[in-house]
Amino acid sequence: MNGMRVPVVSGMSKEGIERAALRFLQKYNPESLASPSPVPIADIIEFDMPNEHLNLVVRVGTLPPPLEAITDSITRPGMIDLVLDILTYEALRDGNCRARFTAAHEAGHIELHAHQMPDAFHTGMYQAFARRSDLPAYRDPEWQANYFAACVLMNREVMKAIVAKHGRSAEAVSDLLQVSLPAASRRLMYLFGAVK
Ligand SMILES: [Zn+2]
Repeated sequence: MNGMRVPVVSGMSKEGIERAALRFLQKYNPESLASPSPVPIADIIEFDMPNEHLNLVVRVGTLPPPLEAITDSITRPGMIDLVLDILTYEALRDGNCRARFTAAHEAGHIELHAHQMPDAFHTGMYQAFARRSDLPAYRDPEWQANYFAACVLMNREVMKAIVAKHGRSAEAVSDLLQVSLPAASRRLMYLFGAVK
């Protein structure tokens, strides 16, 4: 999907995204920072975020495969429209790890990108899109949203607490935080180096 065209957004460092994800958890689920537990991303995205962002509409619909969800804040300036595919929504409600990551990724678009989108109109939309392959990772909104999702579902301090107790175990992270094994391994690798 690297030829995919994406809106141009401001560059963000990993540290900047980590901080944005921490603010997100402090606002929506401070409990998850106190002791390792799965972030209730399904409830946050369906109920809490629309309460906080009055211009956010969250809907369940049918999207053409392979789309699992779409956040659109360009078509209707000032409004943020999040559509979750019905299969993604059902999987999310079942606690499926991939669907949880998708929901956290879309939360990233809402938190990090939605407010930048009206600018796409002022600058001319044709100028405000780029091919993903032409962008460095820190300016790629998809990379930013994925990194945000990892930081939200696997907070750095929570990860330190897990590693202190269980070692660098992807299985422990996956069990305690309800994330997939590959996502747990990636985060462990980035924060602590090797994974056991
Ligand atoms: Zn995305």
